[in-house]
Amino acid sequence: MGSAPNVGRAEDAEMLGKGSDPDGPANEANGSADVANVLLIEDEPGIVDFVRRGLEAEGFAVEAALDGNEGERLALNGGFDAIVLDLMLPGRSGLEILAAVRRAMPSLPVIVLTARGEIEDRVEGLEAGAVDYLVKPFSMAELVARVRAQLRVVAHASASMLSAEDIEVDLLTRKVQRAGRSVALSTTEFELLVYLLRHHGQVVSREQILSSVWGYEHDPATNVVDVYVGYLRRKLGRPGEPAPIFTVRAVGYRLGTAS
Ligand code: CA
Repeated sequence: MGSAPNVGRAEDAEMLGKGSDPDGPANEANGSADVANVLLIEDEPGIVDFVRRGLEAEGFAVEAALDGNEGERLALNGGFDAIVLDLMLPGRSGLEILAAVRRAMPSLPVIVLTARGEIEDRVEGLEAGAVDYLVKPFSMAELVARVRAQLRVVAHASASMLSAEDIEVDLLTRKVQRAGRSVALSTTEFELLVYLLRHHGQVVSREQILSSVWGYEHDPATNVVDVYVGYLRRKLGRPGEPAPIFTVRAVGYRLGTAS
């Protein structure tokens, strides 16, 4: 464990030596609850070892997958704060994994590792996912800085973000996304969605929705809530992918998974 890993490039080994102390006390932090969990998807054992030690020395908890299928499975299971993703992998390619992660978890930071020369061909795919990337060989200090910066962006954004299922709402910019696609809503539709998201998984009555979103007491004659839920379902849904807003008979509505 004490020797530098074989990463196939002298400069990597040298940077590991300079960058961090893999046996340092920061490793002890891995068990605590506020440690950031990083998923590393990379098939070269030397780089896995290099990145794992470097990130762990900085206090991150690291789980590694050595092929694309396993990496995608772990990524979509959730529980990670960031993903470090190689592009050239056995099984699923890095770009396929990136696309799947972007659909399921649009705001999860992904830092892509690429070999020199790969980037020109793939920049289109990378821009589609708006990810950060590092060209190999990279220094551990640079990777740590990128991961930290991405986590800061997420922490800042999450203060104004509401999300449930695959819907994300930014309360500051009032942007709405479903599975990574933008959805344009009217002001009232937006307020209704925010109310449903804030009560994610709960059944809310028409009366509760009416007084919270429209701000007046229940008029039994009005069907405005049902009408606007209809608008929202239509705008959020796509063929084969209905909006996750369910009617609870004689009570009201629930945003969540089907039950
Ligand atoms: Ca590779």
